[in-house]
Amino acid sequence: MTRLKMSLYMACFSLLMLLCLPLLVLARSCGAEGVWLQVLGSGGPEVIQTGRASSSYLLWLNGKARLLVDAGGGSALNFARTGADFKDLDAIVFSHFHVDHSADLPVFIKASYFGDRYRDLPLFGPTGNDLMPSAKAFVHAEFAEPDGAFHYLSDFIDQSPSSAYKLVAHNIDATGRLLWVGFHNKRFKLSAVPVHHGPIPALAWRVDVNGHSITFSGDMNGNRHTLAKLAAHSDILVAHNAIPEGAGGVARQLHMPPSVIGKIAARAMVKQLVLSHRMRRTLGKEKQTRKIISRYYHGTVIFANDLDCFRP
Ligand SMILES: [Zn+2]
Repeated sequence: MTRLKMSLYMACFSLLMLLCLPLLVLARSCGAEGVWLQVLGSGGPEVIQTGRASSSYLLWLNGKARLLVDAGGGSALNFARTGADFKDLDAIVFSHFHVDHSADLPVFIKASYFGDRYRDLPLFGPTGNDLMPSAKAFVHAEFAEPDGAFHYLSDFIDQSPSSAYKLVAHNIDATGRLLWVGFHNKRFKLSAVPVHHGPIPALAWRVDVNGHSITFSGDMNGNRHTLAKLAAHSDILVAHNAIPEGAGGVARQLHMPPSVIGKIAARAMVKQLVLSHRMRRTLGKEKQTRKIISRYYHGTVIFANDLDCFRP
């Protein structure tokens, strides 16, 4: 081979690599086998300041994404980056309907128009109150004719035969302290409990799948005392690290400090604690947070980043 030909081959190869590299970097899936938790959004509502997508998590089972937990801003794009397919989802669950947990729902639904989902999709979220809509009311306010903000997508929720599938919303009681265990299919079982997130109706979720369990605290401050029981012996507890120790006022009404996270993780005897919903208030304080948690909980503690994978 002449030197010129060799150079041409090398140039072509380099160009090919350059074109393919973005795709290789973009696709960040978990393993093809077994159960995995992937973080789609490890941030809170700050997005622009932290560069993290807002709250969202994906459950993988044998290479397919089966459950979406919350859908904060940026989660739809990160969902695509994982290589997940919307048609594989068995359910979407919401902890509550603050923007940083729900804003991408219409993004997912509109994008699905261009996919090939042909089976109904159940959506579960809390009941509402004066401050927040229920899951049904939230879906209605987004998609229903004639007043929904995106009522041009109403085919996805009404009786029209023109959409390939329907989004079917269910309200889960977010008052009191009762455990809800209303959904299971051949792949996983869902349960939920009300948690205290200031005046906002909110739920913590647990998924049991193939002998493994993952619990999601959602946003909460610990005052309802329901999470430890729900999370009992979970392989992973995803807890929201939204405030530092010593925070007060409204922030403490809404969120739990590291000491409360540590106490709950210890009481529930979870195997792994994943800290997410990371905000400027807690970013950079990881050492302090870890130290406070370790007073109560002696298992593995990991700070989550977008697209991280965890094996239960
Ligand atoms: Zn939040």
